[in-house]
Amino acid sequence: MKKILVVDDSGVQRKMIIQIVQKAGFANETLEAEDGSKAIEILAANFEDTALVLCDWNMPNMSGLEFIEAIAQVPAVAGIPVVMVTTEGTEDKIAEAKAANPNLAGYIAKPFTPDVLKATITPILEAAG
Ligand SMILES: [Mg+2]
Repeated sequence: MKKILVVDDSGVQRKMIIQIVQKAGFANETLEAEDGSKAIEILAANFEDTALVLCDWNMPNMSGLEFIEAIAQVPAVAGIPVVMVTTEGTEDKIAEAKAANPNLAGYIAKPFTPDVLKATITPILEAAG
């Protein structure tokens, strides 16, 4: 069973996302990071079995945009699907995120419902096996 990395500076938000993932029936192990630089550390140790990264945009130290741009440059992790989960929901921001990481697999605007999260990640996790 592959892992899901949840990156958000809000602990409450991370817990909420993880709870939705579990309630939706996904048995995937979840990993957490509170900013982009911590996410890089965690991904470096877990990239071989990480199926999905759910990533906030606005975080201290290293933003979600900087993080997804950084991993897009590293072949070992560039192919990992990333879904942004953020208040930054304008067309311009979505285009900016896509430019930063061509493997952007989805974009969820906060606030979101559990159904939206489930519908977005289901095909990605099914494809990952
Ligand atoms: Mg944030």
